[in-house]
Amino acid sequence: MRLCRGAVLAMILWGTGLPGFARGGQEVNIYSHRHYAVDRQLYKRFEETTGIRVNVVQAEADELIQRLAAEGQRSPADILMTVDAGRLGRAADMGLLKPITSEILQQRVPAHLRDPAGRWYALTRRVRLLVYHPDRVSPEELSTYEALADPMWRGRILVRSSSNIYNQSLLASMIAVHGEAAALEWAAGLVANFARQPAGSDRDQMKAIMAGAGAGAGAGAGAGDVAIVNSYYVGLLAASDDPEERRVAQTIRVFFPNQSDRGAHVNVSGAGVTASSRNTQNALRLLEFLVSREAQLVFAAANYEYALDPQVAPPRPLAGWPDFLEHQIDLSQYTAYNTAAVRIFDQVGWR
Ligand code: FE
Repeated sequence: MRLCRGAVLAMILWGTGLPGFARGGQEVNIYSHRHYAVDRQLYKRFEETTGIRVNVVQAEADELIQRLAAEGQRSPADILMTVDAGRLGRAADMGLLKPITSEILQQRVPAHLRDPAGRWYALTRRVRLLVYHPDRVSPEELSTYEALADPMWRGRILVRSSSNIYNQSLLASMIAVHGEAAALEWAAGLVANFARQPAGSDRDQMKAIMAGAGAGAGAGAGAGDVAIVNSYYVGLLAASDDPEERRVAQTIRVFFPNQSDRGAHVNVSGAGVTASSRNTQNALRLLEFLVSREAQLVFAAANYEYALDPQVAPPRPLAGWPDFLEHQIDLSQYTAYNTAAVRIFDQVGWR
């Protein structure tokens, strides 16, 4: 589960094992930027229950979107799946996804977590929250994303590179709420508070909180006190085979920001049916399966993501966290402000 790291494209194909996919028989072909082991388990279950073969090409979302655009109507892909709403929206705006309607999808995917035109639907939710070292930070000192730009945090904030879409969508949400000028000021303040130049994955930021603990890549020099990470990585660290990673997860604490105002920043993994799909019915069935209670429980249990239905309880350690308010923003704003967010990152030197 280290696929999140690095800018190198990982093209992994499974299923028939044939690039371009097999012809004949019932199948559904996915271009996916979800990079979690749990997905394979779910596809296998879908294959067993429906007899529809699932073929997957896994790569970075930008690569997949470019590929879809280049292939046009010849594309073998039926589904585009990403780990961020911003890129789903972009693919939809480029005409690469087609509107689909399904009573099941409409029932199970809350309105603010899907495209109003039906071109993409969320599959899971994740919160970009704060983690901190309890010896160096008291929860009373934490409040909002905005407050992390305060000079009291000089040299103490850990966050990954701005090339990462999770950060781009976080900043896009700040632009949507406060406007570009204020978002730029915030980003500049945050950069001034960085413990080090952004490096590594969300997991590495948590490890770096354990200063001098020899917690692996990213730890040691420049370690900080507060990190901004996606919620499921805390669960994945806690369940790691590596005892050092489990120790990090046991030591750190989580904090949901902005609970007194708009709520914590939420993103989704999600999917849409491609405009070129020749297996639209199979694609629809797969999406309906992935939002079923059975699949949602697996997403939650195996990858620590929040199910679409808040009634589906997350596993430990997430189960022990407080209830939280989530920012119910129109997710198309992540797409709308992505370019502005990237420009701001450049301007403020958030590498
Ligand atoms: Fe991730």
